[in-house]
Amino acid sequence: MALHFAILFPIATHMKKLTSLAKPRLLALLIACAITVPPVYSASANETMHRSMAAAQDQSLEKLSLEFLQALWRMQPDNALYAGRYEGAAQLPVPDEKERARQLAFSQTWLARFEKLDPAKLSPKLRTDLALLKNQLLSDVWYYTRSKEFAWNPSIYNVAGAFDMILNTEYAPKPQRLRSLLQRLQQVPAFYAAARASIVQPTAEHTQLAIAQSAGTVQVLQEVEKAAQASQLSVAQKTLFSRRTQAALQAVEEYTSWLRSLLAREQASRSFRLGKTMYEEKFALQIQTGLTGEQTYQRALQAKEQMLTRMDALADQLWPKYMAEQVKPQERSRKIGMVIDKLSAKHAQPENFVKEVRQQLPQLQQWLLDKNLLGTDASKPLEVREMPSYLRGVSVANIEAPGPYRPQDRTYYNVSPLTDMTPQQAESHLREYNHWILQILNIHEAIPGHYTQLVYANKSPSLIKSLFGNGSMIEGWAVYGELMMMESGWGDNTPEMWLMYSKWNLRAICNTILDYGVHVQGMTREQALQLLMQDAFQSETEANGKWRRAQLSSVQLASYFSGFSAIIALREERRQQLAEKFDLKQFHEQFLSYGSAPVPMIRELMIGQPVMPMMQNMGHTSNQHKALVKSAKKAEKPTAARAAASAVTPHQH
Ligand code: ZN
Ligand code: ZN
Repeated sequence: MALHFAILFPIATHMKKLTSLAKPRLLALLIACAITVPPVYSASANETMHRSMAAAQDQSLEKLSLEFLQALWRMQPDNALYAGRYEGAAQLPVPDEKERARQLAFSQTWLARFEKLDPAKLSPKLRTDLALLKNQLLSDVWYYTRSKEFAWNPSIYNVAGAFDMILNTEYAPKPQRLRSLLQRLQQVPAFYAAARASIVQPTAEHTQLAIAQSAGTVQVLQEVEKAAQASQLSVAQKTLFSRRTQAALQAVEEYTSWLRSLLAREQASRSFRLGKTMYEEKFALQIQTGLTGEQTYQRALQAKEQMLTRMDALADQLWPKYMAEQVKPQERSRKIGMVIDKLSAKHAQPENFVKEVRQQLPQLQQWLLDKNLLGTDASKPLEVREMPSYLRGVSVANIEAPGPYRPQDRTYYNVSPLTDMTPQQAESHLREYNHWILQILNIHEAIPGHYTQLVYANKSPSLIKSLFGNGSMIEGWAVYGELMMMESGWGDNTPEMWLMYSKWNLRAICNTILDYGVHVQGMTREQALQLLMQDAFQSETEANGKWRRAQLSSVQLASYFSGFSAIIALREERRQQLAEKFDLKQFHEQFLSYGSAPVPMIRELMIGQPVMPMMQNMGHTSNQHKALVKSAKKAEKPTAARAAASAVTPHQH
């Protein structure tokens, strides 16, 4: 997942999650990786000419981007940490009104500078970089002037992530890191005082989240203090360390009890629901498929119905083989659910779980070659390993790639070993990630999903795309990869495999329905649980977790289905356009060659036509842009620095 500098996504609910938030990883990232596939498409004479003309303009954008990033890391030392830059480790900006005004002015100034470049004169690679940069800055302006999350989400004020990173990342000798922490500690009381002054009307849900997470903050601060006392720092420095840690702990404690008092006095009364206007604005900036949230929601409803109709037929087909002795229920959902339940009993044993994953990856790779779907890089295989303990508890598996400033590091596929769970927990996980779903998980996370997409993106490395890449394209590709494999006959085309695939795809579809339902339509908890458990066959634990995530986040849950359906639409458009010349492998490779750009932008580069009218709803439209900049200038209260920014979200579905 890309770094999200502007919009916090606080799904961390306990220490493990918090720690994992602090690691720059997952998809954002450069790896020095040579791919053995031939060039994806050959340039026409026209293109070649355009390329040389573009060179000069490209260079000025490249220069400006680097200048911007340097300035950005100075402005936002915590975001810099998540990107792998530690120069500002000693500084903790105080998130007060003045700081917010400074950040807003910064975004506006840079936006104006990037506006001066003519996208038409840039090469495709740099044109997408420019669009992503501008979109990022617009998102920042939107954050300060429209969403104003700093005033209603107390959980964004948390110093733990950065402290944890500085303590546990070996970017410099330990004494040096500890001295940075000592300086940083001094700012903590002012940080939480500014937090209190910034919060106007919080939601109860985010207030509860902040209270729950404060236990993790205390734990991190205590770890820091322990490390300092055990270090080679001087006696005087150690004494100072203790004093500042005590003051910091007290500040956290005061902040937390203040939040408790808000809850007790029912002052945390803002609705967690974004509402239609804000939802659509955020959707346009983050998703960027060219459709509105509402249009995407309508498509998801249709897709859900189609999927259930198909699953109904699959369940009928499988019934005699698995359920012969049982009475077949009339009701569609119950019938499908019973078959899924029965099939879920076929799964790996806990001790073989990681091994199973490891064995599948070369098979998936070979499949892509045999079926002529995608060229792959056999020279640098993905390394499967047991999930490090500090990352456990968030998801069963994830791709951990090095940050953009650490291209020499390896890319790992972390898989939770399940051996540290109780037998009941392990069994529940194994049923969820059963024989069939485990294959789909590997397809999604690794090949041809996230890992493969990353390898392709790095063929033409772009710091900008690795930092600000489009999440909907990234998730959409992984979800599309599942369908690509199924269409090519993976899993022998059995009804079992198709039924399980459908269940998994239904999850992406229902994420969108849930997100829109919760934030725009006032969906209640009961309705949400009914959607997830009855229509999407999720367990109660899973459904409860998703309901919670939908309350605490917005729009991100819609990225899977929105990106997926945009990619399918583009593929069909391209197929029609090229008729018998259409080649699936070439489509895939060309699609991926542009890096993590929004799908309509890829469409423009691929099909070579201006992107209308699909792009009309995008965040870049000049009207919305002008309105944002105008509202930014008028805003009476310039808005907040994003505290300890979340940067990387753990990979979930
Ligand atoms: Zn079992
Ligand atoms: Zn994913």
